[in-house]
Amino acid sequence: MSMRMLARQTTALRSAARGAMSARLVAGSRVPQVVRAPAVRAFSSSVMRAEEYENPFGPNSLYKYTEEEEMLREAVRRFAETEVQPLVEQMDENEKMDPKIIKGLFEQGLMAIETSPELGGAGSGFLSAVIVIEELAKVDPSVSVLCDVHNTLVNTVLRKYANDQLREKYMPSLSEGMLGSFCLSEPGSGSDAFAMKTSVKKSDDGKHYIINGSKMWITNSAEAEFFIVFAQGDASKGYKGISAFAVTKDMGVEIAKKERKLGIRASSTCTVNFDEVKVPVENLIGEEGKGYKIAIEILNEGRVGIGAQMVGLAQGAFDKAVAYAFEREQFGQPIAKFQGMQFQMSQIATEIEAARLMVYNAARLKEEGRPFTKQAAMAKLFASQVAERAAGKAIEWCGGQGFTREQGIEKFWRDSKIGAIYEGTSNIQLHTIFNLLAKEKGF
Ligand SMILES: Cc1cc2nc3c(=O)[nH]c(=O)nc-3n(C[C@H](O)[C@H](O)[C@H](O)COP(=O)(O)OP(=O)(O)OC[C@H]3O[C@@H](n4cnc5c(N)ncnc54)[C@H](O)[C@@H]3O)c2cc1C
Repeated sequence: MSMRMLARQTTALRSAARGAMSARLVAGSRVPQVVRAPAVRAFSSSVMRAEEYENPFGPNSLYKYTEEEEMLREAVRRFAETEVQPLVEQMDENEKMDPKIIKGLFEQGLMAIETSPELGGAGSGFLSAVIVIEELAKVDPSVSVLCDVHNTLVNTVLRKYANDQLREKYMPSLSEGMLGSFCLSEPGSGSDAFAMKTSVKKSDDGKHYIINGSKMWITNSAEAEFFIVFAQGDASKGYKGISAFAVTKDMGVEIAKKERKLGIRASSTCTVNFDEVKVPVENLIGEEGKGYKIAIEILNEGRVGIGAQMVGLAQGAFDKAVAYAFEREQFGQPIAKFQGMQFQMSQIATEIEAARLMVYNAARLKEEGRPFTKQAAMAKLFASQVAERAAGKAIEWCGGQGFTREQGIEKFWRDSKIGAIYEGTSNIQLHTIFNLLAKEKGF
């Protein structure tokens, strides 16, 4: 069933449930005041469903979403549990994404979340993308990052910076089944991304750009057919010489060494080589020399996506370990009954909630068109720390079982380590946060 069909069905179910709830409230004598006092309801501890609140502040709390966001979360949760979960261990062991997963993500409409319907997408908001990434990461952070890079980096670059012709040329295919990669990092340029050596020059007849060089660490590259590539056109201009291009594999892109990694092993990470790759001039994204701006701006959004991946990962590890702690008995009772365990779980639950608030807040700020760079950096920094702590604790709570590969708990911990590295290391986030703080303080 497609996302859209499922969405329609869920809407119908929700409306029915809401009708029944209102009838109960009006007919019942115990809680009629709930109907008349919306401001109080927003902060009440009532057990009513979130949709029943008339929140005067809009959909801002962690428990208030638009109907579309709610339906999306439900649909992705179902997809992750039924389609992804059975393949997680095998994909991790084989270090390979099952093609069925990629096909399923496209079929479910999860690979063009913010793309306009005219170009084959769902036309949803940024928080919808965040919700999808989070829900997938609860089950498999590798699947989550595949979806994240395709949506928040590849599609978004075209959506925001490409002209109409370029969007129409590639975005329908990127909505339908063509997977994308984002090629910025190189062997010699990671944190210092704009020190790139990949070069670009115009052909003598002016009809093509010619790209030469190697990109490293490129997510999705083993399966991708489409690449956003950053290249230096005039080193004397420094970062202002960098431009971005839409490149397809058939232009001569070579996928080289695939990395063998600690975590997110099903997600492909390869070196990508460009040897005299001829790209039509119309495939320049935006203007010549503006590639650095595209990269900076897009990575701000991307970081919220990685924050969402880390929140989902933390929640996935937490949920598994807590379920185990209620089942496992020692000293004649479930280990979850020991206060020493309960306090640790409460601490991690609190940290996950704080990280989720930060990620959603950054996403909402972005949707509102307000500055969000600092909040995005803080959200990614903190969420990756929480993910590592949550997954580490989850292993300990499950004792020896947590340490085995069969349980899938240790995988969350291995997967969590990448959160402090890609799309800007934790030190780079701290650097960004401090720069913005200093600016705010007038220094
Ligand atoms: C699994 C994986 C997937 C990736 N996917 C992609 C992708 O799809 N596309 C892409 O373009 N890139 C991708 N990357 C690359 C990733 O963004 C870089 O690895 C990251 O930016 C860090 O660069 P580096 O590895 O060269 O580390 P370095 O930059 O060498 O950093 C090493 C250490 O030095 C610290 N450091 C560096 N500079 C400073 C400073 N100024 N102040 C303080 N500390 C500093 C860092 O914080 C880090 O701890 C991926 C990487 C991995 C591992």
